[in-house]
Amino acid sequence: MSLDIDKIRADYPILKREISGHPLVYLDSAATSQTPRQVVEAINEMYYRHKANVHRGVHTMSLEATDMVEQTREKVREWINAESTEEVVFTRGTTEGINLVASSMGETFANGDEIILTVMEHHSNIVPWQLLQRHKRIRLRVVPIDANGDLNMSAYEDMFTENTRFVAVTHVSNVLGTVNPVRRIIEIAHSHGVPVLVDGAQAAPHLRVDVRALDCDFYAFSSHKMYGPSGVGVLYGKKQWLSRMTPYQGGGEMIGNVSFEKTTFAELPFKFEAGTPDFVGVAAFGAAIDYMKALGVEQMAEYEHGLLTLATAELEKIDGMRIFGTSAGKGAVISFLVGQASAYDTGLLLDKLGFAVRTGHHCAQPLMTHLGVQGTVRVSFAVYNTEEEVLRFAQAVARVSAMLNR
Ligand SMILES: *Cc1c(COP(=O)(O)O)cnc(C)c1O
Repeated sequence: MSLDIDKIRADYPILKREISGHPLVYLDSAATSQTPRQVVEAINEMYYRHKANVHRGVHTMSLEATDMVEQTREKVREWINAESTEEVVFTRGTTEGINLVASSMGETFANGDEIILTVMEHHSNIVPWQLLQRHKRIRLRVVPIDANGDLNMSAYEDMFTENTRFVAVTHVSNVLGTVNPVRRIIEIAHSHGVPVLVDGAQAAPHLRVDVRALDCDFYAFSSHKMYGPSGVGVLYGKKQWLSRMTPYQGGGEMIGNVSFEKTTFAELPFKFEAGTPDFVGVAAFGAAIDYMKALGVEQMAEYEHGLLTLATAELEKIDGMRIFGTSAGKGAVISFLVGQASAYDTGLLLDKLGFAVRTGHHCAQPLMTHLGVQGTVRVSFAVYNTEEEVLRFAQAVARVSAMLNR
């Protein structure tokens, strides 16, 4: 059974838009994916029929809303193969999930402790660890990459010392597309007794994620990059860690009993969900998971890989093309520059032709420094893109490049 892309595209009214008189070609799904009708309708349904605060009321609508949130939690548990819904914490997104872990685990770190990151991390997996350095002398150690954009695994292995406390690594690079060998990375860390957080923001939309097969200690991702609404994310954490960690924020929903003398905290996962959650978003995220499940994430990935292969071949024909990230089996993103044209000018002219691409440092300035560039143009694919769009895009890049490299 293959995907019916025309039928899929019909689920996205936004794809019928025109930009500067040209049909929109949306090639920025790694920044945020578009949202199908099924998910938007779930948002509407929540507002029109069920809106009530969760976990508190006895009234029918409050119970319905609670039910919808908890149903999504179970869908997420199943989707990532977590052992229990106690291990599925709803957050605002990947960034908040990583901040939660850095802040809460960080309390247990001491002067001289070391954290291993990689040079390809998104700022949201760098800065939360740097914030710990305000209070403690914590050392960040950075795994380098080779020319293809693959991690230097022997450098990584050599980085462990008796002071290593934590490893935080992206599953898939949002710039290079590299799919890191996280299973192996985790195995090595665990052999030193060190826990690992995986930034899954770019993996969750495209890969079958199995947290138990990976044996990761934490896994963070965002709904808005996987056909879901903005403002919702998931932090998976092994119960053994979450049960020991202190809450990240205090407030309603996360308490057992409160008095001015002593407050106790709620059970997992609620201990980490202070305040009214984005229950509308969470409910609609459930619809996004249903949507991906119906299409089949493996099938989607295979289709996207076809677009990636075609786009890479077409772009490589263009004079002066430089593609950053050539790892085998990479994810569906291409970062590039052509000749002397700046990423910004290239992106601006492409927009005038209807192509939505990302330009700049992609929240990965240390990686840009490593690559020796200010920024790149990045295109990324999702299930609603077509081969015809890819071919038109390559022609447009050739045209824009000819204008800018005269
Ligand atoms: C987008 C992204 C993030 C941040 O996700 P938010 O949804 O903005 O919190 C983190 N890491 C990677 C690799 C990303 O691509």
